[in-house]
Amino acid sequence: MKVSKRKGPLQEKQREKTHTMRKTKRICVRCRFYKSGCDEGDPCQKCNKIEGHARSFREPCYREHLEDTSIIRRCNGREQQEEAEFLGYDWKPGSQLWEMDILWNLPGYGRIPNAQPMRVAFRPYSPRRGSLDTATSVWTTKEGDVCAVEQPAYAIYDTANLVSAFERYFSSLQPAIEAWIFDRIQHDEIATHTYREVFRMRSVHGSRALDLAMRLQCLSVVSQGYGTVWSNNIPGIQEYDYRHLGRSDYEAYDRNSRDRPLPGAITHQMDVAAVKYLRKLEKLFVKELASLIFKPKIKPWYELFLTFYVIFWNLEYINKGAKGYMKAKNGTLIEHQVNNVVNNQVKKWEFAFPVLLYHWRCTLRGYSPFKLARDNPDELRERGHIDAEGFAYVTEIAKIFDRLSPDRFQPPLTGFSATHHSFVSEWITKLFKEAGA
Ligand SMILES: [Zn+2]
Ligand SMILES: [Zn+2]
Repeated sequence: MKVSKRKGPLQEKQREKTHTMRKTKRICVRCRFYKSGCDEGDPCQKCNKIEGHARSFREPCYREHLEDTSIIRRCNGREQQEEAEFLGYDWKPGSQLWEMDILWNLPGYGRIPNAQPMRVAFRPYSPRRGSLDTATSVWTTKEGDVCAVEQPAYAIYDTANLVSAFERYFSSLQPAIEAWIFDRIQHDEIATHTYREVFRMRSVHGSRALDLAMRLQCLSVVSQGYGTVWSNNIPGIQEYDYRHLGRSDYEAYDRNSRDRPLPGAITHQMDVAAVKYLRKLEKLFVKELASLIFKPKIKPWYELFLTFYVIFWNLEYINKGAKGYMKAKNGTLIEHQVNNVVNNQVKKWEFAFPVLLYHWRCTLRGYSPFKLARDNPDELRERGHIDAEGFAYVTEIAKIFDRLSPDRFQPPLTGFSATHHSFVSEWITKLFKEAGA
């Protein structure tokens, strides 16, 4: 005889939970790969069935999706915004619109060569909301001194048009920014070889994933740069000699010249425009990345490898930038708000990395191209799905790894090369190791 028990409140709750899980739990990556039906089990039935005797897909059941990761900076620390957004300003009644030419500087480098200025229309506002409206920029030097530069309370009037103007302006400067990246990596053999291949695959094979990855990277570099007021007839704009202001852990404050910094509100608005453009590119990029990874039959592993390299380099770069920014704000009044928001952002990147690496392993499914370059180069050349230049690259990198293993490698202690070397990056080293380097 069947006994039906009345469901208590606890069981009812459990049922609800299962129900919502059914709606929200995402398909596992293996089932997404093979386009088979998934279930809520842990592991799911499909993964459970093949456990221990899978021929190629040996990864555990895993449900974190690329689409849920964050690979760009979305926050603005200074204004305590997890998602950077424009602020409203209390415009001075009866005030006029003025025009200002802005020149952009790349971190630790200065003006972008041959760049024309960008013109914006601004208006004076009344700073009445304390630190929210401040026109002052404050940071701490390496020696622990607090610096402050102040400009008048001016803000860009039409922020709706700023985003598209920003996109057009910085898209036109992409080649100059790519030259900055090449300059940075000149002492990093691996990066130099890899970026050459990135550029080649982008132009010869028309890789959209690589094109978007490079755009993301260039924009990340831009967003760690800073603007200069180029027009010299703007009332109230002051010039500061940064050489007398001490060195900073954040490159944008580490200027080696005299400069007319942008008013604080305009700096924030330019940053929001950058973040909005970054978000748009990230969305397009992740979609493209997923379409390559989940492509039926042969996976374009080489294109994906180069794409992951660029993205990991960039994650490393924005991570370092975020930490330098926090250091530069230590000892200032906004220290705590900056630490809070920026630390949350860093956690999101730390979450993204294993998700990306899992997808990289799924792409490879045990395939080990760099190992093959050593053990069986003919097999790699004939059946590796790479062209002659790609084959030459993989062979060269395998040799470099044999010569300077990352475990033995000591980076040079001078300049930027030390902080931007492929082997110093745990993330980039793992990308290579998974592929047998
Ligand atoms: Zn599944
Ligand atoms: Zn599964």
